[in-house]
Formats: sequence, structure tokens, C-alpha cells
Amino acid sequence: MSRPEWVRETVYVDGRWTEPRGPLCEVENPATEEIIGTVRSASAADAVDAVLAARRATDRWAATSPAFRQELLRELSLALQASSDLLVDTLVAEVGTPTSLARSSHLGQAVAVLDSYVDLLGHYDFEQRLRHTRVLKESAGVVGAITPWNYPLYQLMAKVAPALAAGCSVVAKPAELTPLSALVLADAAHAVGLPAGVLNIVPGSGTEVGAVLSSHPEVDVVSFTGSTQVGAHVAAAAAATVKRVCLELGGKSASIVLPDADLQFAVSATVANVMVNSGQTCAAWTRLLVPAAQYDESLAFAAKACDEHIVGDPREETTDLGPVISDRQRRSVLRFIAEATSEGCELVVGGVERPDGLSRGHYVRPTVIGGAQRSSRVAQEEIFGPVLVVLPYVDLDDAVAIANGTHYGLAGSVWSGDDEKAFAVAKLLQTGRVDVNGAAWNPVAPFGGYKQSGNGRELGHFGLEEYLEVKSVQMPDRSP
Ligand code: NDP
Repeated sequence: MSRPEWVRETVYVDGRWTEPRGPLCEVENPATEEIIGTVRSASAADAVDAVLAARRATDRWAATSPAFRQELLRELSLALQASSDLLVDTLVAEVGTPTSLARSSHLGQAVAVLDSYVDLLGHYDFEQRLRHTRVLKESAGVVGAITPWNYPLYQLMAKVAPALAAGCSVVAKPAELTPLSALVLADAAHAVGLPAGVLNIVPGSGTEVGAVLSSHPEVDVVSFTGSTQVGAHVAAAAAATVKRVCLELGGKSASIVLPDADLQFAVSATVANVMVNSGQTCAAWTRLLVPAAQYDESLAFAAKACDEHIVGDPREETTDLGPVISDRQRRSVLRFIAEATSEGCELVVGGVERPDGLSRGHYVRPTVIGGAQRSSRVAQEEIFGPVLVVLPYVDLDDAVAIANGTHYGLAGSVWSGDDEKAFAVAKLLQTGRVDVNGAAWNPVAPFGGYKQSGNGRELGHFGLEEYLEVKSVQMPDRSP
């Protein structure tokens, strides 16, 4: 197995590796609590340099043909795939995510997204005709991309791939906790010869580097994934220069099990969905809504499914759940669990104690909570840990009211013996994505939130269009 280079003194700006002026930042392995890397952070001044490099590069990149960009993105995809062992190692070490998930989801879905844009560039119409008007879809310019730590490579790719495909130049700031995979992406971009300044990767703090990307007048689009609170702050900072803002924020998504569904299958699938990546998934179905008459049975199925999840060393192929990302995140998750139990909720399985045999690492027991008030924090707020809340509903109207009864609207699922019946319920949900009966992820389907889960859409042509300006050119009528 190849070893990642986990000491990085440089950031990637203007096609070169340059020494930044920010502090040294330690990267911890959340499974062992050991420092596994150091990265020299970009300062605000370095971020400004990166923005100006992106500005210098953007017109020439925007003028390239879709076929030229397609070829470079294809080469980037191949370079990432050639580095897959290194990337998987890096993702397991910096996120604490299990190896199998790092390979299939963190890396696999990142590559699938990149490949989807290689494909889209082969047939997307950058010019359309509307009567006597030629409508041009043009690069929106310089993009600031701010991404979180939960799926660091995928989140970055969901912004970088469409932005580069659109002819935009990018300055990307990965989360401080997970800068390493982003630097491997920069290595790949450099190796395939992306023109200087087209992609700049500047690890650094949100308050320094993120603040520059949200407010600098030379940034045209800011695309942010993370918490609703910081997303709102980014949007406010972007408003002064009227940037386009794309926000992919938190969620508290519902999994609705209709009375005619296979209850055990639906409950097990929901538990599995919540536990993926130790619950640190914005689209996770963290509220399970079941018919009141099937509530007790649902809790039993949920407990059984939870117990089948193996928590442990993420490097082991058999592990289902690694740790959460940090001590701070673990404490935050445990506070939710403790608060719920102190309010009289039923701890069906899990709890605040460490999982057996794991005395180190930021591990949390897979937890199922019953008996919560619909309005309680545990049923309303994003916990971002392996915690499922099970709520009973009286009838369909009640189920839909509970599902829609949060300020989020990112995802959800509906389970029924009849796909069309589930589809009819999906139409009632105020949410950006609904999976019917466990349908598979689609890398070209739009992804994004209603309400405070954000605005804008990632993936597919919807994702591309976040990075395109639209120009109408009215042509004179020359018909004889
Ligand atoms: P944040 O929203 O704080 O971080 C997301 C990104 O924004 C990071 O790159 C961060 O930088 C950056 N950032 C922080 N402050 C600013 C700022 N003022 N201006 C611009 N950028 C900024 O998420 P956290 O990491 O603090 O996680 C907190 C909670 O957010 C989680 O518990 C979870 O509920 C939610 N979350 C949701 C995610 C989602 O996909 N919807 C993803 C991650 C978290 P830095 O790394 O320096 O903090």
C-alpha cells in the first residue's frame, strides 16, 4: 500500500506549490487521536493571491472549447483513479471513515461525479435559440468553493467538476480538519496540466480563507457546503458584492414507512442510511416515521439493525462505523443523546458510553431514540452523528406534517409496497430529494435543499448551471 505524504508545507496557487503565510495545522486521525499530518495553512493574504490568480486565468479558460475541458477532466479522473490507494488511505486516516466506504462512496462517488461532467461536456448545449435570440451559457467567472469535512473529496468534486466544466476558475478551501485529500486532488490537477490559476487549493481557516472567498469582489460565485449557520453568514458576506451563492446545508430528513411497506426491510435500510459515515451525512434519514400501530415493532427492528453494525477500526474491511470526526463533534453528539434521555426519551439502543473495547478515538455508539417530542431538539436539529429518532404517526397527513415540520428540507425516503403510492407521498414532501423504496443514488440527479437546507442544486446539468451566466443576443431578422 502506498503511503500518503502527510506533511505539506505548500498550497496550490497559480499552478505552483507556494509556501503560505498561515499557521501549521495538525491533522488528527479521529480513530487513534494521533497526529498524522501537518499542513501549512493559507492566510487571508494567500487566499487573495489565489483569487487574483483565478481571475487572471478565467477568461482564457472560459474561452476553451467544451471538448478541450472534457479531455482535461477525463485525464483528471484517470489521475485520481490511478491514485486511488493513496486517496483511500488518506480519507480513512483524516475522516475515520471505513475503508470500504472510503473506496465506494468518498472516492467512488467523487469519480462518478467527475465522470458525469466529462460525459455532459460531450452533449450540453452552451448555445440555444429562442425565436430570434441566441441564448449563450457562459462561464460565471471565479468560483470560491468552501467545503466541509464529512466527505471531503466528494464535496470538493461536486463543486470543482461542474465549475471547471462550465469554464470557471476555482479557489477551493477544504475544511481545516480534512485538508489532505484536497491536496492529493491538487497533485492530480497539477500532474494533468490544468492551466495555471484554473484550480487553486488553499487549506486554511473558515474565518480567514473562507471569509475572503465569501466577500472578495473578484469572486463571482461562492459555493458552500456545511452548517446552516455558517451558510447564512457566507450568504450575508457575499451580498455586498452581489455574488451568486449556492448553499448546500444541513438536514433532518424523514424516512416515512407506509403501512403497506415491508417494515423490517424499511427500518433496517433507514438504520443503515443513518449509520453510514457515522451519521455525518447531510442527507441522512435521521427521523424514522412509522405508523403508530407498528411503533413498538419498529423500535425492536431498529435495535436489531443497529446491533448488527460493527463499530471499530476503520481500516478493517468488516467495520461499518468508524469514529466521528473530532472530540468536539463527539461531545456535541453526546449532548444531544444526554439531553434526550434527561427529557424522558427512551434510549432504545446505544447511549453516551464508549462502544465496548474502544478506549481511544472519537467513537459514538449507534443510537436509537424513541419517545421524543416532535418539537424537541433531538427531533428537530441536525445531530451529525449515528443517532436515529423514531416517531409514530397517526395517518398519512400526520406523517407528511411531521416530515415537513422542520426548517430543513434536504432529503427523505418513502417506503411502500407500491412504488406509485410512495411517489404520491414523495410529491407532498418539502424536500430536495426523495428516495422511493431504497432506490440507488444517481450522480446526475439534482441535489440540494428546500427551506434552510440551502439553495441552488449540485450534480448533473443543474449543478453545471450554477456556474453559468446566461446571455441573450437578439439577432436581426434578415429573412427576405
Ligand atoms: P461549518 O459549517 O463550520 O464548516 C463548513 C466549512 O465552512 C468549513 O470549510 C469551514 O472552515 C468553513 N467556515 C467556517 N466559518 C466560516 C466563515 N465564517 N466563512 C466562510 N467559511 C467558513 O461546519 P462544522 O465543521 O463546524 O460542523 C458543524 C455542524 O455543521 C455539524 O455538526 C453539522 O451539523 C453541520 N455540517 C453539515 C454539513 C453538510 O454537509 N450539510 C457538513 C459539515 C457540517 P473550517 O474548516 O476552518 O471550520
